[in-house]
Amino acid sequence: MTAPVRTRFAPSPTGTLHIGGARTALFNWLFARRHGGTFILRMEDTDQVRSTRESVEQVLRDLRWLGLTWDEGPAGDDQGSVGPYGPYFQSQRREIYVRYLDKLQTAGLAYPTFESKAEVEAEREAAIAEGRAPSGAFEEATADQVQAMREKGLEPAWRFRMPESGVTEFEDLVHGSMRFENRLMADFVIVRSDGMPTYNFAAVVDDALMRITHVLRGDDHLSNTPRQVCLYRALGFEPPAFAHIPMILGADKQRLSKRHGATAVGEYRAQGFLPETLLNYLALLGWSLDDKTTLIETEQLVAEFSIERVTKHAAVFDPVKLAWMNGHYVRKADPARLAPLIREQFLKAGLERPEGPWWTRLASALKEKVRALSELPAENAFLFRREAPEPEARAKFLACGGPGMLAGLLELLRGAEFEPGPLEAALRGHCEAQGIKFKDAVAALRCGVSGRLVTPGLFETLTLLGREECLARLGEAGGWS
Ligand code: GLU
Repeated sequence: MTAPVRTRFAPSPTGTLHIGGARTALFNWLFARRHGGTFILRMEDTDQVRSTRESVEQVLRDLRWLGLTWDEGPAGDDQGSVGPYGPYFQSQRREIYVRYLDKLQTAGLAYPTFESKAEVEAEREAAIAEGRAPSGAFEEATADQVQAMREKGLEPAWRFRMPESGVTEFEDLVHGSMRFENRLMADFVIVRSDGMPTYNFAAVVDDALMRITHVLRGDDHLSNTPRQVCLYRALGFEPPAFAHIPMILGADKQRLSKRHGATAVGEYRAQGFLPETLLNYLALLGWSLDDKTTLIETEQLVAEFSIERVTKHAAVFDPVKLAWMNGHYVRKADPARLAPLIREQFLKAGLERPEGPWWTRLASALKEKVRALSELPAENAFLFRREAPEPEARAKFLACGGPGMLAGLLELLRGAEFEPGPLEAALRGHCEAQGIKFKDAVAALRCGVSGRLVTPGLFETLTLLGREECLARLGEAGGWS
């Protein structure tokens, strides 16, 4: 029997959760959910300078917002953890790493060194200048040297002794069989002189102890993997299965970065993107169901996700497609759910109105044509305040015979039931009785009450404005010339 699937997302909390990280989290989550397995979240916060509490909180918040919930990992409050293999913050696992460093040291597979980065670099350069291969080994400090340096308050860094010859092989679930020559991989630092483990060391110890069965991560880590495989073997652990997923590029085929616009998940949330949009879109960055289906809901993703369909080639992030996709999910969404999200966007633009059913009606009226909810306030500020009419709207009001229709329209608005259906029926009846073209009456009303050529549905717009406001605005339009 194969072991139950256990995957992990292991962010370094040094900033916000970005598109690439979220995609890695999603693939791990989908794979675990698809196989009835366990999804683990581990904070790789060994870089004490760059890791912040704020970043941890942001990552947790963004993952929760996306619905990528973890079965084991941070409890979310005060650095606590839930799950049998915790703590899930690497900064709280130092004794564990010390234990495994001891093990390697006893086996002669780790050695102390005081060579500074600058010295290591100097040796490399000298070697290259002299035309010899830089040595993969470093100067090992003797016990006496370590003692003497400790008396001065200095600790050594610890390097892992890589095999000098032979090859390290592993099967990558995306890239197939991988082979790396050991002599080309230098001994690498596993514990720094400040006592903190490096990424390669801590990740291996944790992936092993947390019983991770599948490591899905960006293929920028591909060159770390042979080093990690050597560490697993040296520590007596069986390596997990690896799947290196393709990079995400911008439209210019450069690695996705801030230059390409919003890259943080939080920015998309703030712009009024829905989480299901992001999940659907991120799933297509390096994976496809059948090379053509674009709209795939989360449930279907869970049912269909497979590593076999992860592509080797890089994925291109297309914000236009993402916005289009958001339009699709907004149209599908319940107006009651959209109402507070839309309200948040208007509030940000300084357009206020108390909470209530009005916002749900606004959501119904607006959701058909939107992409990012953040676009809405600019186009619909007229629902909140009177604005100088657009010259084109004023011209249209005059051209379609607005002034002549005014008295009749005001009369109609005074008497009609102020709901979209009844308003429309009343207007149609009025036009027939008066011999007015319905189209002209619609234009006169729209331009008159909004001062704009384009608005949401006219009858929805009228009810959103309310009878009194419509009468007042139409009255004002009567003075246009
Ligand atoms: N903390 C590493 C990163 O954010 C994790 C890489 C891995 O998944 O092994 O890149």
